[in-house]
Amino acid sequence: MSSNQIDKIRNIGIMAHIDAGKTTTTERILYYTGKSHKIGEVHNGTATMDWMIQEQERGITITSAATTCRWNNQVINIIDTPGHVDFTIEVERSLRVLDGAVGVFDAVSGVEPQSETVWAQADKYKVPRLAFVNKMDRMGADFDNCVNEIREKLDKKAAAIQRPIGSEESFNGIVDLIEMKAIYFPAESLGSKIDIKDIPEDLVDECQMYRDELLDNLSEYDETLTDLILNDEKPTVANIKAALRKAVIKDNFIAVLCGSAFKNKGIQPLLDAVVDYLPSPTDRGELHGHSIKNPENTEVRRPEVDEMFSGIAFKIATDPFVGSVTFVRIYSGKLESGQTVYNPIKKKRERINKIFQMHADKRTELQEAFAGDIVAVAGFKDTTTGETLCTENKPIIYDLMEFPETVISVA
Ligand code: GDP
Repeated sequence: MSSNQIDKIRNIGIMAHIDAGKTTTTERILYYTGKSHKIGEVHNGTATMDWMIQEQERGITITSAATTCRWNNQVINIIDTPGHVDFTIEVERSLRVLDGAVGVFDAVSGVEPQSETVWAQADKYKVPRLAFVNKMDRMGADFDNCVNEIREKLDKKAAAIQRPIGSEESFNGIVDLIEMKAIYFPAESLGSKIDIKDIPEDLVDECQMYRDELLDNLSEYDETLTDLILNDEKPTVANIKAALRKAVIKDNFIAVLCGSAFKNKGIQPLLDAVVDYLPSPTDRGELHGHSIKNPENTEVRRPEVDEMFSGIAFKIATDPFVGSVTFVRIYSGKLESGQTVYNPIKKKRERINKIFQMHADKRTELQEAFAGDIVAVAGFKDTTTGETLCTENKPIIYDLMEFPETVISVA
């Protein structure tokens, strides 16, 4: 379902070093957000694998260039971010169209060299991020070491917003340091219920200490929080969440979470954090591009539905059912089926024959799509990856990071 409630959209990428668990984490996210795979229906640890195999047999790509899912009434679009170092241009291209990202780390290996490369690229586009320390069930898993490496190797202001409960094989839950509650994932099977309890007594002091550290970190970014702390008043959960959201979005502060994707532990709190702390398309503010006639002149679009249409084609793919589709991130205005849009680089009109939203297990045809949405469009003839699409009477060109000279030659 497309949404014209732009505040409810999260366009995210999942970035990881090879083997850290990006595929498993994405698969679990699609499972827990999947309408056709309701939590509680499946009691068997191999359910995802069975589901994946079925999907593959039906010829459906689970991770298309962008997959739409829903969590708590919010729309989450997962944009495929190639993880391999050889694809840095592709990584940059996808980073351009997402608003936030989750970095997945292996709790044993910590921050590996390739993560540093991808993170440096994400820094270039100032992509707000959460870190998910995965594989907490492995022997040698070390959450605190990972948090430290994020600070030191990635040179980030970062703090844990969770503490693990149990370690290695006995890892079975997390403490939410903001709400100060324990969340247990009692069974390893997919779809099993989570239990919310008081923090175990032996962890209370430690958790209080880490919570103070988090608040201390956040008070740097938020005056309300600073004032409360200075006046010895207790900040509310809402105060802390607001401060954290601001720090993540405006100051690239990294909130660190943990879990084990493989053992189905920690995914639901990760999804909550994506909604709570990563930006919606409006949080990035106005969009700046060039005018065609005079590249010195900045064209501005508000990320709103009632603005003129603008978007970027970020991937061309072949869908087994639909044929050739162009994935478009809509920055402003809306797209309607049957309408034409303008490609200012090619100086060509393109017809929108059909608009689709891609889900893990199906595609939905839409009559219209709105600012903030990511959709697949059938019907384009001349547009290639990275090009802007807009209204013909007042064109705008967004920077093409991979071919900056193209922008200049248009003048
Ligand atoms: P990717 O290369 O980042 O996409 O990583 P994958 O998701 O393919 O995972 C790499 C390997 O690590 C696979 O064998 C997974 O089963 C395993 N793995 C993923 N998540 C976990 C986890 O939480 N715990 C453990 N022990 N293994 C995991």
